[in-house]
Amino acid sequence: MNHACRATYSVGETLVDCSKCGHLLDIAYDWSRVPVPGSLKQFESRWSSRRNPLDFSGVWRFRELLPFAKDEQIVTIGEGQTILQSSAGVGKYAGFQTGKLLLQYEGLNPSGSFKDNGMTAASTHAHMVGAKVAACASTGNTSASLAIYSSTTRLFETIVFIGSGKISFGKLSQALDYGAKTLQIQGDFDDALRQVRDVCAARGIYLCNSVNPFRLEGQKSIMFRVLEGLNWEVPDWIVVPGGNLGNSSAFGKAFTELKELGLINRIPRLAVINASGSNTLYQLFEQHKIRWNSGKFDEAKINGFFTQMDSDNRRASTLATAIEINRPVNLLKCLRALEVCDGVVREVSDELVLEAKAQIGAGGFGCEPASAASVAGAKLLREQGVISPSDRVVCILTGHQLKDPTATVAYHSVDPALLSAAATEDDAYATMLRKAGVTQTPAANRPIVVENKFESIMQLLDRLSL
Ligand SMILES: *Cc1c(COP(=O)(O)O)cnc(C)c1O
Ligand SMILES: [Zn+2]
Repeated sequence: MNHACRATYSVGETLVDCSKCGHLLDIAYDWSRVPVPGSLKQFESRWSSRRNPLDFSGVWRFRELLPFAKDEQIVTIGEGQTILQSSAGVGKYAGFQTGKLLLQYEGLNPSGSFKDNGMTAASTHAHMVGAKVAACASTGNTSASLAIYSSTTRLFETIVFIGSGKISFGKLSQALDYGAKTLQIQGDFDDALRQVRDVCAARGIYLCNSVNPFRLEGQKSIMFRVLEGLNWEVPDWIVVPGGNLGNSSAFGKAFTELKELGLINRIPRLAVINASGSNTLYQLFEQHKIRWNSGKFDEAKINGFFTQMDSDNRRASTLATAIEINRPVNLLKCLRALEVCDGVVREVSDELVLEAKAQIGAGGFGCEPASAASVAGAKLLREQGVISPSDRVVCILTGHQLKDPTATVAYHSVDPALLSAAATEDDAYATMLRKAGVTQTPAANRPIVVENKFESIMQLLDRLSL
């Protein structure tokens, strides 16, 4: 993907970066050899052949748009049964006209996050090259996803590398339950990723992090389903949380290709939302004004930023653990997507993320904290006047609520008095929230303690007019 380096490799290779220039690889197709339908609407014919697993899959029913595998090589477990939905409450909370804010709920995937869209593609490629062992580093969802593909298909064994401490129990329990070999590294996600890259290179193990360009091919399908949900109309904005920036990069690539193929006539704008405790992209893009610049990005300035980050020992810290990442590996691809989509980047505090999460939950869409950054970001951009109340906006809800129940229970049950600066007492939830800078929980739905007595419960219900 380096502008100057035109090196190409065949689909049978397992490189993740270019051996000539060291940058990540991009998947490129010779579209003249692919039977791409003349219009997106033609994909609808596959709705009637859902007994064919490839037509059932929310990823592979668009297989002509990610045509790197033969049909018989494709590995699918029914991922991508996700749809675009709206919630009047969430739309109103974020400041939009009725029906204008839409939620693409990717928590409905087999392992409970959008990662399955990418992992079906990476697993397919692993299968194509005959890999026997696959590995990834993970803040939790990538490992859960890889583990489910490994256990359901038995095509390869899986090793997952996780950092110490931060992984939520919902995600860790998945990797353990699906039988993945789970290595806990004394360090954070960035450390785990560095180790797994070296280990995979040394042992010939197939690497499934989003440095793997095939993952991104699968994740393009999230945008195909968004368009499908809008009767193939292009929305005004896509809002997505940014961690390692695989999703935002994949979305930019999807729209670039659809436009080139003449399947859409315009490209929506893209908003990537960082947690303020993990805001590398925000700093680089909005503060240091780093741009893709048609491939002529300022590499020295980017490297200088990371050198400074290391020497200041700045480490990401947010309750939105899925986006707690210091060095987003897909930074350059994301900058390219931001250029193509005339994008913006914003940061949102953990307090606003949890508030948005509670609003999303009240609207019936349980998501994990990182996912709620999208709605918190849409609300912020609305307030700033960047997005107008009549714009059609799609927020990606990246992961399921049950991934991280601790954050949810902490938000709803903490005693607000313990969050004030004057609080002298503390408990585990208050400590967790205060550390994340949460000082109030206006959207909390606190459990009510009541005596184990019929009369007391009746009196309580009277007071609540229930
Ligand atoms: C992985 C993940 C993200 C971050 O996505 P990137 O593609 O790495 O930017 C956000 N939310 C959830 C729930 C995730 O699992
Ligand atoms: Zn190169």
